[in-house]
Amino acid sequence: MEYFSTRGKVEPLGFIDAILMGLANDGGLLVPKNIPQLSKETLQKWQNLSYSELALEIFSLYVNNEIPRDELKQLVDDSYATFRDEAVTPVKRLNDGTYVLELFHGPTFAFKDIALQFLGNLYAYVSRKTNSIIHILGATSGDTGASAIEGVRGKEGIRICILHPHQKVSQVQELQMTTVDDANVLNLSVEGTFDDCQRIIKELFADVEFKHRYHLRAINSINIARILAQTVYYFYAYFQLAKNKEAEKVNFSVPTGNFGDIFAGYLAQKMGLPIHKLILATNENNILERFVQEGVYQPGAFRGTYSPSMDIQVASNFERYLFYLYGEDAEAVTAIMEQFKAEGRVVIPADKLQVVQSDFAAYGVKNEECLDTISDYYEKYAYLLDPHTACGVAAADQIVADGEVTVALSTAHPAKFDESIRLRNIKQTYPPQIQALFDKPQFQTVVGGTNDEIKDQLVKFF
Ligand SMILES: *Cc1c(COP(=O)(O)O)cnc(C)c1O
Repeated sequence: MEYFSTRGKVEPLGFIDAILMGLANDGGLLVPKNIPQLSKETLQKWQNLSYSELALEIFSLYVNNEIPRDELKQLVDDSYATFRDEAVTPVKRLNDGTYVLELFHGPTFAFKDIALQFLGNLYAYVSRKTNSIIHILGATSGDTGASAIEGVRGKEGIRICILHPHQKVSQVQELQMTTVDDANVLNLSVEGTFDDCQRIIKELFADVEFKHRYHLRAINSINIARILAQTVYYFYAYFQLAKNKEAEKVNFSVPTGNFGDIFAGYLAQKMGLPIHKLILATNENNILERFVQEGVYQPGAFRGTYSPSMDIQVASNFERYLFYLYGEDAEAVTAIMEQFKAEGRVVIPADKLQVVQSDFAAYGVKNEECLDTISDYYEKYAYLLDPHTACGVAAADQIVADGEVTVALSTAHPAKFDESIRLRNIKQTYPPQIQALFDKPQFQTVVGGTNDEIKDQLVKFF
């Protein structure tokens, strides 16, 4: 398998080089040369595999022997052995038509562990094999940082620095990042917003001399390894329902921010998984909902919501979808992205909009509606949804027709977002792993939001 850029200006790369490159050098995103096509027989054969066995089969299609199968198996097994549930991503039934796919049983109680446990082990593997230094630099609005740190803490050959906006992440998210005492972890708490953190990172990565001198690597969701790892649970959930003959028409409802998770579902569908509807759920930051409804891609004003991990205006994985929407035409994608940069908006023609609307159904969930959904499902089904999951469930309630079955992706454990849950007077007990964080010392450095201050810190650390 080879990988190339959505903008067509990068020589084809192997799997490991694609992982290491992160953002493509021409500013595009890396995509596989061909999407593997799975036959009905293959799907049938995979139906009873464990999560790790299934992950191994799917990764093998994309890794193409660049990692020997026994070593890849070890990487996969190590990555999912840290999950608290034997099924890794269990499917829970709420009512006849609604299932929840619990993606939060990893070390940091959010779905990002599924990709970042694997990516952490993969980076350690590459560092060992090629004797190279890996310095990870990333920005987080909360979940990615904790998950990435947990994926590489204590690992030889790797250091990680994560920027988060000072006092603008949830309490549990902050504790998860800053109570890690491994020497290869640096938390910078930046006086500013998440967008400031993201901008600093982008500028430091764009400084090619600095990037090479300090061996900087990325962990954000533009990394193709994250997308591939996330396709696995779409298959896994489908097989769980198929066993009970409930998979005739399965919809997936996906709480969406950067378009990463839902793009993984789109890729699974393109590989041959018979998904009925892919439901794109947003919160009040609804640029993607508006794109699906109107064919206009244009950031609006930023809104703070109860689902902060989806408070995103420009979805970094969107370009991957555009690439397929435009028949894998890199020149067309380049032109669109240049137009977006110059004018701040893109409008697609009616025939393309039709394709978009056959690929996705979309719904944007309002703040109160999100909390209402949490209260409703808690009362009716004694099931506590976190605010991100609640957006997916609320969108499904709006879109799904009678007789269809919907799997709502649960992207976080409610304990991570107790600030929102408490607004509805629901009291939860924290899982012991989260409770224990409150007694641990914190390690973080508060810094101003200029590139030079961040650079000074990095130079000392790396
Ligand atoms: C990151 C995140 C999302 C959004 O996922 P994308 O891949 O950015 O669309 C949703 N819910 C939670 C809890 C998250 O951490």
